[in-house]
Amino acid sequence: MSPPPIELVLACRPRPNIDVDNLAQRAVLQKMKDSMEFVLALKNASLDDPLAKLSDDALDRLRNPPQGPIIIDSPGVRQSISMYLVLEHGSQEAYNRMRRATMRNFEGANGAEEILSFYNVEKLIAQHTGVESIEHDMCPESCLAFTGPFAHLESCPTCGLSRWDQAKLRASSGRTKVAAQKFVTIPLGPQLQALYRDPESARHMRYLWERTQEVLDGLRRTGKVPVVDDIAMGFDILGAVLDWRDQTG
Ligand SMILES: [Zn+2]
Repeated sequence: MSPPPIELVLACRPRPNIDVDNLAQRAVLQKMKDSMEFVLALKNASLDDPLAKLSDDALDRLRNPPQGPIIIDSPGVRQSISMYLVLEHGSQEAYNRMRRATMRNFEGANGAEEILSFYNVEKLIAQHTGVESIEHDMCPESCLAFTGPFAHLESCPTCGLSRWDQAKLRASSGRTKVAAQKFVTIPLGPQLQALYRDPESARHMRYLWERTQEVLDGLRRTGKVPVVDDIAMGFDILGAVLDWRDQTG
């Protein structure tokens, strides 16, 4: 007897039909109301949303990503980028010392004068890749970020601490409001677009799709998933891929 079609074996769980706006209106508890405000903000999120805090340049690159690989001719600039990447978990001082040592020891060599300062190499990488960080104010005790329903608060609703750097606030008689603590996010879109610019990383980005297709082909032929040693072999992801294919034709 031939195995049943995999579309039946991996039938997706039906999607729940949830009216988020209605749920938001019915929330009574404050924590629930706050959560629903975040859910609604996510539902209505767009690139033009001021909460996204993306610069005009970053938005423009997201919508019109550069396609070709990045070519850097100067060995000094390439050395700067290599040092920056190697010292990913090191200090700026470590980078600057290595820079000074390299410029001293390779004085007169091609590109030695073009080794960049820490500030400039970071700027160059951001320019080339389009990957930039976004800062948000947060509670000094790490209770929450001042975003979504908390964006306009001046103190933390959980612990009561002020959002602002007290020394700067006092020194300016209350005029200079600088966050006492910030956290940084690196948006995903520019990172993915940068990976697509390099042929090898672009190929790696197709891994999950290709592996999933292999597993589905094997399932069609034998009715079985071989040794489960990869995320691509889980029934949830296989079902989701089939579901997506059904919907997109
Ligand atoms: Zn707090």
